[in-house]
Amino acid sequence: MNFEQLFDYLKHQPDFAGNVTSWHTIDPKPARYADFPSELDPRLHTVLLSRGISRLYSHQAVAFESINNHSDTVIVTPTASGKTLSYNLPVFQRLLQMPESRALYLFPTKALSQDQVHETQEMVKALGEDIKSFTFDGDTPVDIRRTIRTAGHIVVTNPDMLHQGILPHHTLWIKLFENLNFIVIDEIHYYRGVFGSHLSNLLRRLNRICQFYGSSPTYICASATIANPKEFAENILKRTVNLIDENGSPAGQKNFILYNPPVINRELGLRRSVINEVRSIVRKILPTGIQIIIFARSRQRVELLVTYLKELAVDLKINPEQIKGYRGGYLPKERREIEKGLKNGSIKVVVSTNALELGIDIGQLDVSIMAGYPGSVSSTWQQSGRAGRRQSASLTILVASSNPLDQYIIQNPEYFFGKNPERAQTDADNLSILLSHLKCAAFELPFDDNEIFTPGITTQLLDFLTEERVLRKTENRFHWMADKYPAEQVSLRNASPENVVIVDTTAGPKIIGEIDKFAAPEMLHDDAIYMHNSIQYFVDKLNWAELKAYVHQVDVDHFTDAITKTDLKVLDVSETEFNNEHGYFKNFGDVAVTRVTTAFKKIKFHSHENIGLGKVFLPEQEIQTNALWWEFPDDLFTDPFYQESVIGEGLSGIAHTLGHLIPLYILCDSSDISVIPMVRAPFSHKPTIYVYDKYQGGIGLSKKLYTLDDSVLQVVYRHIRQCPCSDGCPSCTGPMLENGRFAKLSSLRILEELKFKVSV
Ligand SMILES: [Zn+2]
Repeated sequence: MNFEQLFDYLKHQPDFAGNVTSWHTIDPKPARYADFPSELDPRLHTVLLSRGISRLYSHQAVAFESINNHSDTVIVTPTASGKTLSYNLPVFQRLLQMPESRALYLFPTKALSQDQVHETQEMVKALGEDIKSFTFDGDTPVDIRRTIRTAGHIVVTNPDMLHQGILPHHTLWIKLFENLNFIVIDEIHYYRGVFGSHLSNLLRRLNRICQFYGSSPTYICASATIANPKEFAENILKRTVNLIDENGSPAGQKNFILYNPPVINRELGLRRSVINEVRSIVRKILPTGIQIIIFARSRQRVELLVTYLKELAVDLKINPEQIKGYRGGYLPKERREIEKGLKNGSIKVVVSTNALELGIDIGQLDVSIMAGYPGSVSSTWQQSGRAGRRQSASLTILVASSNPLDQYIIQNPEYFFGKNPERAQTDADNLSILLSHLKCAAFELPFDDNEIFTPGITTQLLDFLTEERVLRKTENRFHWMADKYPAEQVSLRNASPENVVIVDTTAGPKIIGEIDKFAAPEMLHDDAIYMHNSIQYFVDKLNWAELKAYVHQVDVDHFTDAITKTDLKVLDVSETEFNNEHGYFKNFGDVAVTRVTTAFKKIKFHSHENIGLGKVFLPEQEIQTNALWWEFPDDLFTDPFYQESVIGEGLSGIAHTLGHLIPLYILCDSSDISVIPMVRAPFSHKPTIYVYDKYQGGIGLSKKLYTLDDSVLQVVYRHIRQCPCSDGCPSCTGPMLENGRFAKLSSLRILEELKFKVSV
């Protein structure tokens, strides 16, 4: 069966076609080429020709020119568009012409840098010149570290290693820093939120060190498609960058199907499960021999789907060995074999976490199926980009879950197929992150008293650290004086320096991660089921004094849901505006949020039945952060039906929907922010909805949301209206049992009173 026949077949299967809400065809796109740049070194010329490349894609040529002219550059092109070559070419050009030059490549994770270095090393091999490229990370053997420090022309690493393993030891890396010409930051969209704030400060430290050794490298960033790549890269780098986003690589015809599993319980808004739907779709495609990649949201789901699909293969008399799982935790050798099997066609189906979304070379497959919305438009396109050979047609099927975000996408395909609206956001000046890196920077090199690390407050912070006896001031210089090694105390994945360390005792104590102190009581209280990389752990003990949680692996049929009481106090209103059209105030400012976890529920998987309750005794936590809030007029209703309790249900319904839909506008997880409704907020005495960043000091999310127009409330209204449930459900205003039976009715009425009414 070929593709045309497959499409025709699927269109005539009522149990498939009946659930398709949108079948979108994207026309094939021819390549746009450019000749090799006239400056291109003849040796590179020869290597490219030997690999069958006689021209460049237009974006590669533009990137070459920009980078070769020492301009900081951000390249934004989709998966499989020859992005790596776009930056490798100008870097190699320089290395060939100035053999002492150095380049530093940063990838967001260790796994990714190990996979990506491959392409660079192929290039080195083909050139046959004396150019050395190495990965430098926690796995690098001690005996070759020395060679890398002095002889590595291209050092490939990750931010964590730069932070703890390279910058604090810069004196061992003189050769690199004196000659550093390029800093490549691939997958820059990955650095949103807290990780982005850390990266930005890490680069401030890196720049200081380069300046000290007399080099001034050019920055090259690469990103997936987001709404604001230039703004975002400039926000991270604190420099002006050249944007290159005219993709010249070709693409075959793309078929994109949005698939919504049928509703099985209208009252509760329950739909048939994603896993079962994916199985029934694969049943239709598997016998054709067409290669499929399936993305699942967790490791657990990967394993479950692989088991189901192998059973299915046996049923269909197909060799089950043609079906494989792929995820973190598999041995590298195993992973390489699967990659090979995919390339040579011996593996027909691979089920993966987002581990296969980025980089890794597996060739191009034919069909990509997403078991649930991956959480952002850019991830979806990256996963979809795994299907489709350059010239031939491909198929992507997005199977929605009942999560509000999934349901919004399914019902509003124009959102998805239009211009990507997601903005990546980060705040380099989060005070607690900034302070941590200022310490690290002072450890690395003393500060002159007129030196600027961040405009406006550097001196103030240095004085503060001097008072705290972390620094000592002599002759206009601030020197490190504490005996601690500061980088060790700072994790790039968290906002606050105080974290709870998670110790897995399943097979002897092993640290598996850490969690922000503010979030810890909710997730790591005694008797909680903690999920980490989709593995379930039972929390035996949260030792608050030591900030350690002791856990062991379990396999149970439920999860725990903490009952947390939150209180929010406005500390300062920095911006406010009255919206004439809708009649409310929108504000932005500083708030103090206190949270205390008092109990937890045990909830059964799938049925979401409450199967038990436990008490928690932990101290209250407080953070100061940024918030945006809408203050609605207190005379919204004259109708006596709308008592405070009914308005309260409506505000909770709006808050539930809003909390899930914010990622439509800003690249973040819904767990990075929190939405709190108050019928009569103590600050304003009005019905108010607060949105705050769940990190000490804020990370720029609510700030960004404040600057956007209020179409987000319009979207909330439309989403609740469109939901097929009758009185609210998990896909819109939340489970009826939680938010009350008037949540849907009341939330719609509130938004209508605020003139958000639209025809849907
Ligand atoms: Zn609903």
